[in-house]
Formats: sequence, C-alpha cells, structure tokens
Amino acid sequence: MSADFARPVARSGLNKRPVFDPALVACPDCDLLQRLPEVPAGSTACCARCQARLWRHKTDSLNRTLALAVAAALLLVIANSVPMLGLSVAGRAASTTVLGGVLAMWDDGRQTVAMLVLFTAVIAPALEIACLLAVSLAVRRPPAPQWAGTLLRGYEVLREWSMIEIMLLGVLVALIKIAELATVIPGLAMFVLGTLVFLLAAMAATFDPRDAWARVAWAAGESLRQAPGLARAAEDKR
Ligand SMILES: [Zn+2]
Repeated sequence: MSADFARPVARSGLNKRPVFDPALVACPDCDLLQRLPEVPAGSTACCARCQARLWRHKTDSLNRTLALAVAAALLLVIANSVPMLGLSVAGRAASTTVLGGVLAMWDDGRQTVAMLVLFTAVIAPALEIACLLAVSLAVRRPPAPQWAGTLLRGYEVLREWSMIEIMLLGVLVALIKIAELATVIPGLAMFVLGTLVFLLAAMAATFDPRDAWARVAWAAGESLRQAPGLARAAEDKR
C-alpha cells in the first residue's frame, strides 16, 4: 500500500525539489526541522526540543583551516624524510624512517601489517590534509566546483583511517620493551609526528563543513542564484 503511494511521488520528482532556505536544519538527534537564527561567531545554536548542538559558528573557519592544513602538510613531509628511531647495540648503530620501517616489515614477510602501516600512517593522513587543503582553496571564490563536494565527503572517510597516534603509541610501547636490550635514540620524526597529531586534531576542530558546503555549486546549476547562503558567502568575500 505504502509502496503504491511512494512510486508516483518519486516518478514526478517531487522528493528532489530543493527548498531554498539554507537556514533550515534537521536536528541530528530528534529530527526536528527548524530554522537557524543569526548565530554570532563563536556561538552555538541548539535544538529547541532536545537541546542537541545544531551548529557552532566557528570564527574564521576557512582561513584557519587553510593555515593549519599548510602547516600539517609541511610537518608530514618532514616526518617522512627524517629518521624516526635509532638503535645502538654493542657499538653498532642503525636508524630508520617511517617508510624504512614499512619496507623492513615487507621484507620480513609481514606484508599485511606493512600495507596497513603505510596506509594509516602515511597515505590516509596525506590524503586527509590534501582534501582539506584543496577544499579550503576551492571554496574561497564561490561557487566552488562540484568536486569540492566530493572531497568533503571523502574527507570524513579519510579522517577515520588516519591513525598516526596509534602508530606512535605502538612505537612507544615497543621502545619501552626494547630499552633493556639496546640504547634507543628517538629521532626528529617522533617529535614531528607527535606535533602532527595535535595539528590534525586542531585542523578537524577548526573546519566548518557547513560553511564549505554553502559555497559548493549545486548539481542543478540554475539554483545557484537563488541560494541565499551562497549569495551571502559571495558578499563576504568581496
Ligand atoms: Zn533535537
């Protein structure tokens, strides 16, 4: 019965008709549809029914995200080019980088672990930073191209796979265990990676996806002129 009712609506495209009001939001907890008031920078709008946080207007979000992403990109390059760890046993010393460790694990027959470390500690953080760097540059002059929206979706997935802090924790546990057998020399990359963990957290906390989405071109291009959020974003830039 309900399927018969839904079919003609879907065919006529009624369910895809956009509502030109970017202030309309649905509460993530109780699903109440409501209009966001003017929220001053640094303030938070809460749901009228359940008090869940609807949106926090972050101050100068896009510029700060861009600055943090540039800093994070530089730190990631440094972290992967200088030694992370050195060992000294009976007068013999050796040191390795993150990628050197991955190669050593690969040669040792632990290809699965090597691939996981490479992806979660190098590739995913690099893509996460690249995503935000590209988005914060692309949305500076609205309307931002459609690929900015694709990157915004990809960023959420990549964030979950970026696990530098887990790798650092693993390295620290191994260091404590090996400290009785050899002299351990922490390399510059250890400190850089430690800083990068905080920088990535700050970058994620500063970024406001709502602000970025408001500047992305609509799939149906004719809606652009009618979207008030976009018009306001364009005015802010002037
Ligand atoms: Zn609610």
